[in-house]
Amino acid sequence: MAASAPRLRFAPSPTGYLHVGGARTALFNWLYARKFGGKMLLRIEDTDKARSTDESTRAIFEGLAWLGLAWDEDVVHQGANLDRHRTDAYRLLQDDSAYRCFCTQAELAERRAAAEAHKEAFTYDRRCDRLGAEEIARRVADGLPFTIRFRVPEGTTGWSDLVHDTITFPNKDIEDFIILRTDGTPIYNLAVVSDDIAAAITLVMRGDDHISNTPKQIMLYTALGAALPEFAHLPMIHGMDGKKLSKRHGATAVGDYQHLGILPGAMLNFLALLGWAPGNDIEVMTVAQMVERFDTAGLQKKAAIFDAKKLEWMNGQHLQLLPTDELVARVTPAFVAAGYTTAMELEGRRDWLLTLLDLLKVRARTVDDIVAQAAPYFLDSIAYTPDAVAKQWKDRTSTIASLQGIRDALAEVPAWEAEANEAALRALAERMGLGDKAGKLFQPLRVALTGESASPGIFDVLAILGRERSLSRLDAALAFTRAPRNA
Ligand code: GLU
Repeated sequence: MAASAPRLRFAPSPTGYLHVGGARTALFNWLYARKFGGKMLLRIEDTDKARSTDESTRAIFEGLAWLGLAWDEDVVHQGANLDRHRTDAYRLLQDDSAYRCFCTQAELAERRAAAEAHKEAFTYDRRCDRLGAEEIARRVADGLPFTIRFRVPEGTTGWSDLVHDTITFPNKDIEDFIILRTDGTPIYNLAVVSDDIAAAITLVMRGDDHISNTPKQIMLYTALGAALPEFAHLPMIHGMDGKKLSKRHGATAVGDYQHLGILPGAMLNFLALLGWAPGNDIEVMTVAQMVERFDTAGLQKKAAIFDAKKLEWMNGQHLQLLPTDELVARVTPAFVAAGYTTAMELEGRRDWLLTLLDLLKVRARTVDDIVAQAAPYFLDSIAYTPDAVAKQWKDRTSTIASLQGIRDALAEVPAWEAEANEAALRALAERMGLGDKAGKLFQPLRVALTGESASPGIFDVLAILGRERSLSRLDAALAFTRAPRNA
């Protein structure tokens, strides 16, 4: 078992924030490892010193931590493995899989320009592979700088991709590529293969923008005498317009969604559906369900579409799934930040808070929605939404009559609880001849209590607001509707 346990890795380049595409790739690697009893490693591909930053590495750690995607073993920093990369390049040189190339960048650029002038694709013409041993020894002794180029063999290179099935490249389309620069630093493909061999990776799962690197990498594995891993190339993520996802489409950093109040479980669920179809039209899943269902058979070839509205919807679904006391931990800081209350005050009326959240979460898609909807239950005075006023308080005379009638009826209810309030208001509706149209009474009341046309059930709202606050809201609504300017 141990010998065959899969080993995967997520290998981001720390050149920006953790992008949703990267997070999706991390998630799929993680799901596969969890599902099949394997390990997922994290490798920071920081060999591009000019573009890599510590800040970006931190953003990757933070993003993964927020999502709960823990990696196994110690983080590998690719830059720490330069000696091994170099040793591997020299091994390939020694056993004749590679050769020294003394062509300078200026010479190569010149030849490239000449080829382009003739509308020909430039490929390296292998001239340094034809140098005699003595000439090479002389140039090395003279201290001429050289790169190491891999000698691409004849034939074809292919693999059976877990997403795209068989992929084959004719080797003649691949030039003898450089693996080590003149300064002794490795080229990307060599570093990746050297590190994947050292980490005994058995499955490379990454974006399909890497498909063109894969034949080169396979050649390197073979030349280094290492067993090939399997490959699974995941589809790209596009915006709603079908173009590659970019900042133009809105937030693309995982951290942005964290700050927008998206739940990590919802984000994971949403990401999971970007390139994976669990089957049976299943969409909403907990992390445990994703692990249980994950399989490469459900991976998709076609680009996935990033629909921010769907993410919001997904978040709403996960808000409902979240046990209310877990929700408390999430909304408390948001309520405090909104200036509604203090954490201590909330602690003192936890049952009230639990009831409120039970009422609000069913209509909310984000924590921000809950915060907005909770305002009437915390603040002394509320604003009336113009639409609600126009619609529910349209006729001034009847609105005043209804609100006054409600106020009087409720003021007489001996015990402030939902059933007694309901009985009092239904009796009032009866007296007013509203028959089964009691809603005519409840809608103006809803605006008086919450400022909105939509809210949780009106008797729940009365109960959670309490007697004093409900009656004073009615007084304020009466003052508002009676004021001449609102006539
Ligand atoms: N560092 C590469 C990237 O961020 C990943 C390479 C790989 O997974 O092999 O796209």
